[in-house]
Amino acid sequence: AKKAGRNDIRFFDQQMQDTINARASMEKDLHKALEREQFQLYYQVQVNSSRQVVGAEGLIRWVHPKRGLVSPCDFISLAEETGLILPIGEWVLDTACAQLKAWQQDETTHQLTISVNVSTKQCRQSDFVALVKTSANKFDINPALLKLELTESILLENVEDIIATMQELKEVGIHFSLDDFGTGYSSLQYLKQLPLHQLKIDQSFVRNIAIDHSDQAIVRTIIAMASSLELNVIAEGVETEEQQKFLQKNHCNHYQGYLFGKPSPIDQFEVLLK
Ligand code: C2E
Ligand code: CA
Ligand code: CA
Ligand code: CA
Repeated sequence: AKKAGRNDIRFFDQQMQDTINARASMEKDLHKALEREQFQLYYQVQVNSSRQVVGAEGLIRWVHPKRGLVSPCDFISLAEETGLILPIGEWVLDTACAQLKAWQQDETTHQLTISVNVSTKQCRQSDFVALVKTSANKFDINPALLKLELTESILLENVEDIIATMQELKEVGIHFSLDDFGTGYSSLQYLKQLPLHQLKIDQSFVRNIAIDHSDQAIVRTIIAMASSLELNVIAEGVETEEQQKFLQKNHCNHYQGYLFGKPSPIDQFEVLLK
């Protein structure tokens, strides 16, 4: 038994070493990714109750020469830990603003919004307000068409700082959406103080909404709350007609999910608009 135990330890050591090596190599690659322009912003359509396209969420992808298409789930947390999320976040903002500018020039697309995901670390950097303003000015966009998606984790500390940051950006017209709503730490007290335009119902509540009574109750409550706070509400992860029907019946007003379109590169996304 003792012998086997020793082997176990060596086995785990090896596994741990492999994990550490893989992370180190991923971190090195991530540094190169920016200068080599390996990131791409995919776009997923957002629609209203009449299924008209109202905008898109930008979702980052990493097109790595050897790893292939890397999902943000596999590198965003590492980017956050290493601080690389700051330059990556700037790239995302610039890319979204450049796209808004392009859409602004065509009357069929000039009212479309773009939502971008902003991680807490990014939002808490001291020059975040300046960075967003610089991006918006550089591309001369209508700031009301840019929506920043924040998660409830921004509420974990120094809420006053976050409120001040959001307030400054709200003053120039930028919109905010609270992402993954209902999955994190949500104090209704703070919720009331945040200058939000939208709540985004997390896909975990939408998945079984056609059959699960507690998910139905949660979603009804979120929609009612959004409505009493005068926020618009978008459901993510809508995959079936049944899910959309339930949401619509309960006065959800915006939708996003595979039912309407998967995240895709800009040229494929624009085909959807025709
Ligand atoms: P999220 O913001 O909650 O984005 C929704 C995720 O659900 C996306 O995964 C999207 O592709 C996926 N999705 C959309 N519709 C459906 C559907 O109908 N069914 C299912 N099962 N999934 C659907 P993705 O693109 O892999 O992104 C994962 C997460 O990575 C995002 O979650 C977001 O937190 C983060 N992320 C993505 N892009 C960025 C970025 O530019 N910056 C930062 N900081 N985070 C990002
Ligand atoms: Ca999001
Ligand atoms: Ca989500
Ligand atoms: Ca998320």
